[in-house]
Parts: sequence; structure tokens; C-alpha cells
Amino acid sequence: MTDAPIYDKVALIGLGLIASSMFWATRRAGLAGHVTGYARSAETRETARRIGLCHEVTESAAEAVKDADLVVLAVPVGAMGAVAEEIGPHLKPGATVTDVGSVKRRVIDDVAPHLPEGVHFVPGHPLAGTEHSGPESGFSTLFENRWCLLVPVEGTDPEATARLRRYWEGMGAQVEEMEPDHHDLVLAVTSHTPHLIAYTMVGVADDLRRVTDSEVIKYSAAGFRDFTRIAASDPTMWRDVFLTNKDATLEILGRFTEELFALQRAIRTGDGDELHAYFTRTRAIRRGII
Ligand code: NAD
Repeated sequence: MTDAPIYDKVALIGLGLIASSMFWATRRAGLAGHVTGYARSAETRETARRIGLCHEVTESAAEAVKDADLVVLAVPVGAMGAVAEEIGPHLKPGATVTDVGSVKRRVIDDVAPHLPEGVHFVPGHPLAGTEHSGPESGFSTLFENRWCLLVPVEGTDPEATARLRRYWEGMGAQVEEMEPDHHDLVLAVTSHTPHLIAYTMVGVADDLRRVTDSEVIKYSAAGFRDFTRIAASDPTMWRDVFLTNKDATLEILGRFTEELFALQRAIRTGDGDELHAYFTRTRAIRRGII
């Protein structure tokens, strides 16, 4: 438990993996006096009430954010703007709005215009997740020892950012600040493009399965199993990530394709030196980061 809650009232909009994990982590560490939650689907709200997710689950987003000191937008990236428009008029002056979206530039462009003067906007992104989604998938330790990137926008009150930083640290995360476009490029390399490759690999294996029956799954080693786990992630969330981080993912995908073609050529021409040199370089990179 911390000495005192960091926020009196927190509102979570969208009650999936990230928001539910935030609730359990918040409750465990005593970081908020009261947490309200709202999700668009009646079924999700019902599930949330049944499992005790949030102190109160409301029937509208407007009701959830009323009097909240911190509002967390935890919906798919493509839905952030519409949610901000809906809650904008109901926000308390001095409140902080943050989000947990996997893409930052687009969220900033979509959300900021709907927030009234006197409300602080501190976009964020916890680098933590699983392939599961929905209100029952969260757990209190999801953010422990994981990074959370905060992406303050021009004019954000440093005190609002500092308070949000303490909140994430209370949930176990290590916090760093980053500029939005840089965030989107870094994530395109470290998360978005690898997800696309996993989706593709599993798609290819499924094509192959028609030829080899169940052998692809039966004999799959850890590498392919990891791909299938990643490829099981929520389709709505990942559709939105690629549509909203288009430029950066296309840039990285272009570079990836060039490298892949170079390796393809080396294999076709039997250029063992080229392959060995490439794999030696990648092994050195791996050894340099752990
Ligand atoms: P999720 O699918 O588990 O939950 C999303 C929730 O939002 C659901 O409850 C859904 O009903 C609700 N929702 C969708 N549209 C809505 C709307 N218009 N109004 C209100 N509620 C709405 O997703 P998640 O994994 O918790 O992801 C939430 C956000 O966190 C996304 O923006 C995602 O990019 C980001 N994120 C996800 C991960 C991950 O690995 N899952 C990691 C970091 C950040």
C-alpha cells in the first residue's frame, strides 16, 4: 500500500485487458480512492460488475468521468477520438486525461481537439500486454517491471505529468518520456512490424496445413508457437494499430522486405558467407541488448 491515494477518483473508459489490469493494480497498491468504469457493450459492463471490476460501472462514459481526477482512455486506437468527443463536455476542470493506445501521434490528433481548456492531456503507452483481451483477462502484475512511455503534448502541465508518472510507478512500471513521432517509429520496429510478421507466418502455415494436414502444429517448435501466440491478439486493436501508424510501419516493412530479399537471394545462390555474416551480426546485436 502507498501512504495516500495518488488520485481521489479514476475513470477507466473501455474495460479490456489494459483497463482491467490497471484496476487490479490500482486497488492492490491503494493508488485511487474510487474507480469508475465504462465499456460500450452491455455484456462487458455486466461481466465487469459480476467480477467486481471497478468500484462502480456506469451506463455512460459521461457519467463515469464526472468528478474524475484522472480519466484513462483504454479503447482501441481508432475509437479514442469519438470517446474524447463524448466525454469532453463532462470533464472536471483540472482533471488529467490520459490514454494507453499503442500509437501516439494519431491519438493526440484525434483526442486533443475535444478536451476543454483547463484539462491536462498526458498521452501514455504501457509496453505490456498479452494475447488475451476483454474484462476478464486483466491481472494486477501486468505492468510490473515493464516500461510505460508518457508522451506529454505542448503545454501539458509538468505537475500533471509528474503525478501520472507516480501513478504508473505505483503500478510497478518504469516510466520514460518520449516524443510522439519517435514513439511511433520505435514501436513500429519493436512491436507493430513483428506482429505483422507473426500474422503472416501463421497465415502461411495455415496454407501449408492443407498439404501437410496437422503436422505444422504437431511438430511446431518454440519459434512457431510464439508466432501463433502473438497472432492470436485482438484483431480490432491490431487493425487500428496498422491503420493509425501507417507511415512508420510502411517504412519499417519496406526495410524488412529489402533484407528478406537479400537473404532469399543468398539462399538461392548458395552464398553461405553472406548468410553467416548476417547471422553473426544479428547475434551480436542480441548479445549487446541483454
Ligand atoms: P481489449 O480488446 O481487451 O479492450 C478494449 C475495450 O474497449 C473493450 O472492453 C471494448 O468493449 C471497449 N471499447 C471498444 N470501443 C469502445 C468505444 N467506442 N467506447 C467504449 N468502449 C469501447 O483491448 P486492450 O488490449 O485492453 O487495449 C486497449 C488499448 O490499449 C488499445 O488502444 C491498445 O492499442 C492499447 N494497448 C494494448 C496492449 C495489448 O497488448 N493488448 C498493450 C499496450 C496498449
